[in-house]
Amino acid sequence: MILYCATTNAGKLREFRLTLRDGVTVETRPGLETMAASEETGTSFEENAIQKARYYSAGLAGYLFAEDSGLEVEALGGAPGIYSARFAGPGATDEDNNRLLLERMQGARDRRARYVCVAALARDGELAGTFRGEVEGTIVEEPRGSNGFGYDPLFYYEPFGCTFGETEAARKIEVSHRTQAVRAMLDALRKSASR
Ligand code: IMP
Repeated sequence: MILYCATTNAGKLREFRLTLRDGVTVETRPGLETMAASEETGTSFEENAIQKARYYSAGLAGYLFAEDSGLEVEALGGAPGIYSARFAGPGATDEDNNRLLLERMQGARDRRARYVCVAALARDGELAGTFRGEVEGTIVEEPRGSNGFGYDPLFYYEPFGCTFGETEAARKIEVSHRTQAVRAMLDALRKSASR
């Protein structure tokens, strides 16, 4: 089965492909590069994922999923949340975002955080379902490791005893918010295919 996805983010694509192996090929939506970017005006991960899935699946044969993900930090009232990619402003790099996060977290004793991912599945503009995954961790005081992407060097995952930046990709995949969301989506797809 081919599942189209609506991302060009290399880090995410790598993770999807590692997660969705058995009989599922993940392909970037044909023509994605030349399409105008979808609006992302929602106020939640769900709303943004749905908006993108509907838009990018229109006119396409087969299923497409879009996801919205980010980091929610307890001491910052859930920020950066849906603004994770552009926390330090439009066009911000991962380094810019990480620097700002550390700045905002200076002196914070409560360092709990969670990654959230919502995948929305759609077919020719019609929503088929949404699937949420979460993983809990804490924010360290300086970056550690260069694996992964985004906030991974700052996200300490207790069961591994290190940050996701210090974790092999295959290990992060076992537990990540994205894996959980995408596996739930795949289960739902398989169930509906066997009905
Ligand atoms: P999106 O492309 O709007 O979903 O942005 C998601 C942003 O959240 C990314 O650019 C990262 O900053 C952050 N993020 C989401 N998932 C992860 C992850 O697994 N590791 C590190 N950062 C992540």
